[in-house]
Amino acid sequence: MNIEHSFASLGLAEPLLRAIAEAGYRTPTPIQAQAIPLVLEGGDLLAAAQTGTGKTAGFTLPILQRLATGNGKAKPGRPRCLILTPTRELAAQVKESVDTYGRFLKITSMVMFGGVGIQPQVNALRKPVDILVATPGRLLDHADQRNVDLSGVEILVLDEADRMLDMGFIRDIRKVLALLPRQRQNLLFSATFSNEIRQLADGLLHQPGYVEVARRNTTTELVEQTAHRVPQKHKRHLLSHLIRTRMWYQVLVFTRTKHGANRLAEQLGKEGFGAAAIHGNKSQGARTRALADFKRGKLQVLVATDIAARGLDIDQLPQVVNFELPNVPEDYVHRIGRTGRAGARGCAVSLVDPEETKHLTAIERLIRQKIACVEAEGFVAPVAEPAEPAEPAREARPPRQAREGQGRRVQERPHKPRRAKAGPPLHPDRPRGDGRARGGKEQRSTEPAAKVPTPRRGQDRQRPALFAAKPSGQGQRKGGGSVPE
Ligand code: AMP
Repeated sequence: MNIEHSFASLGLAEPLLRAIAEAGYRTPTPIQAQAIPLVLEGGDLLAAAQTGTGKTAGFTLPILQRLATGNGKAKPGRPRCLILTPTRELAAQVKESVDTYGRFLKITSMVMFGGVGIQPQVNALRKPVDILVATPGRLLDHADQRNVDLSGVEILVLDEADRMLDMGFIRDIRKVLALLPRQRQNLLFSATFSNEIRQLADGLLHQPGYVEVARRNTTTELVEQTAHRVPQKHKRHLLSHLIRTRMWYQVLVFTRTKHGANRLAEQLGKEGFGAAAIHGNKSQGARTRALADFKRGKLQVLVATDIAARGLDIDQLPQVVNFELPNVPEDYVHRIGRTGRAGARGCAVSLVDPEETKHLTAIERLIRQKIACVEAEGFVAPVAEPAEPAEPAREARPPRQAREGQGRRVQERPHKPRRAKAGPPLHPDRPRGDGRARGGKEQRSTEPAAKVPTPRRGQDRQRPALFAAKPSGQGQRKGGGSVPE
């Protein structure tokens, strides 16, 4: 089977095959093999697939072909295809895919999301646009201001629909749907199928084709998952040790809180690693820059919170670290899904404080797999370190304006917690509430400020080195291990 034939057999035209070959893809992924012919036929589609499966090309390629061969014509501010995504990063990446695969076609596209100035988007809308990639909030802003006319949409894509609902976009989605013509092709992509998603799909799709690819994160053998037992206060030392000794050149590190992400990036920077943090409080410009630098290899470490990292597509990301385990087990699956993509091998390492054992157990139950707890070779914890304060369960939120910059709506806007009504938010980046911003009201931590782990019986082999009370002395080394100071 040669390169072109495998994609060509799906019915894709020559300019697309050329772009695919230039992107270096040899064979279609399972979602592409199933979805492309269905979309080319013009029917609605319900697809169970998450990022990392090649789903973006799965819908972008046939859409480009349909638009290029159809009778419609792009007009200023009146897109023919609308792709809705939950986050700015995902929107930017989808737009990148449209550009990559559509480079030999005369198809125009643009991307719009909040957190950046609206005027450049208004200007772009004055030109003909075939494909509009957008996050729901900013799209509605433009629709309210009559900058965009959605009555010419021939194809609608809801990408990562479950994330959009998780983030409270259902009302916005319904408003957008009301602006679309009745006659159109609808494609809905979702990693999970809650009742809410089913309801949305029932109302939206007409006799859809259904494609499903294995939930790669729960079945993949491409991601090697391990854990190190380590008290919170020693995590950063262990992380530096791992980066150095294992020569990680590109590592995505997850923290539970925005504050924790900032602090860790700063500490790593002081130790000489190129590191930056991305999270919801960073300006869009800073996030885009950090991601671009990381992708280009200018930054060795990108520290991110879950929401900021959602949908990040970094080719062949080799290494993911859970600096703290997420308290929502599903987030672990999303996190490790950043690596081991499209056939490449990846590694996910979790740093687990004794307090996080319950999270580890919940994750293992979810993925139906034991995560091997291994000793970090050559690592000796430093002594006489001040205790690291435990990560607060809640994090103070700055006023919305300060967080979001321009624009009326909040892109990383939460709607409601996934579970508990009372208590702290399930996700520190995803505060509780009805999704509307609450001007500047700060939430305070309910956790004690600092916690020093107490040695317990029966902890793993690494424990003695980590918990042992050693005579004071900075930067002690043992067994050849490096101790960052
Ligand atoms: P996605 O699931 O759309 O986020 O894609 C995940 C990654 O797979 C992206 O980096 C794509 O560039 C890559 N990719 C998509 N299709 C293929 C393919 N057929 N062969 C190899 N890599 C692919």
